[in-house]
Amino acid sequence: MKIAATIAEARALIAALREERRGSAQGNAVGFVPTMGYLHEGHASLLRRSRAESGISVLSIFVNPIQFGPGEDLDRYPRSEKADLELAGREGVDVVFLPSVDEMYPEERKATVTVTGVTERLCGASRPGHFDGVATVVSKLFHIVKPDKAFFGAKDAQQVAVLQKMVTDLNMDVEIVPCPIVREEDGLALSSRNVYLSSEQRREALVLSRSLREAAVLIETDVSVTSRQITNQVTKAIETSPLAEIDYVELLTFPNLEPLVADRELSDLRQSGGSVILAVAVKFGTTRLIDNVIMKLKEAPLHV
Ligand code: AMP
Repeated sequence: MKIAATIAEARALIAALREERRGSAQGNAVGFVPTMGYLHEGHASLLRRSRAESGISVLSIFVNPIQFGPGEDLDRYPRSEKADLELAGREGVDVVFLPSVDEMYPEERKATVTVTGVTERLCGASRPGHFDGVATVVSKLFHIVKPDKAFFGAKDAQQVAVLQKMVTDLNMDVEIVPCPIVREEDGLALSSRNVYLSSEQRREALVLSRSLREAAVLIETDVSVTSRQITNQVTKAIETSPLAEIDYVELLTFPNLEPLVADRELSDLRQSGGSVILAVAVKFGTTRLIDNVIMKLKEAPLHV
């Protein structure tokens, strides 16, 4: 495994591997997993997928300052370079790109990638500028790494929708591959930010996955249930936790992230086989957690 600290090194290492593996059994397609480090099993699942689907696997670790808002956790974002490199080694990564902030943003930046529409709700509404920061850094990383496929977790489902729109609209020659959410055995979605939680907050945070799971069952089994009933049920369940402070509970179409309104209710989407996302963001103390479930709606079973 090679480590690149500069853009020039990353480009040279990846180009050399492309050359070296041309015509080899595993091929020389580049799979890419961008992260902010403090790696866990969720990141590992993306690296395994990348390795399975590409001859060359590239990981980037960069805590991107421009996707954090004022008062967010940029200064205390957890870091563990040594453990991250060990995990990357175990997962068969070929190149780790570990740039400094100065390497990525050496001078005042005048170009920003903005995706509209899908950024209007959910985290786009509660974290202004966040997705500009994400789209800009991922676009820069794509220009540096030139991946054939890039792997992202459905844990950040809005991020997947934003990046999918970015590569489509800007004709970027890379396939965005969404990967399933990895959870702890008790249901908590893995996140680098889980280390901030006290044991009491950690226990209460289970209300997120539990309420999403219960709502998913309701959507699947009750053909007449409305989006308002679903979001009310999830909100009530989360409110039973005294430590939880709700940012949002929303049920939207996926991947367009549009609200369900009178002429586009769950019952209409069932007939067209559309997909929905039920997404939550909840603060426990100063730690903001997100979770979601994406469902393809099926038509009601016929009652005979
Ligand atoms: P981050 O380091 O938090 O920016 O995440 C890097 C990538 O890992 C993103 O594509 C995330 O969606 C993905 N990821 C984070 N947590 C999980 C998880 N629990 N399951 C699957 N993917 C995840």
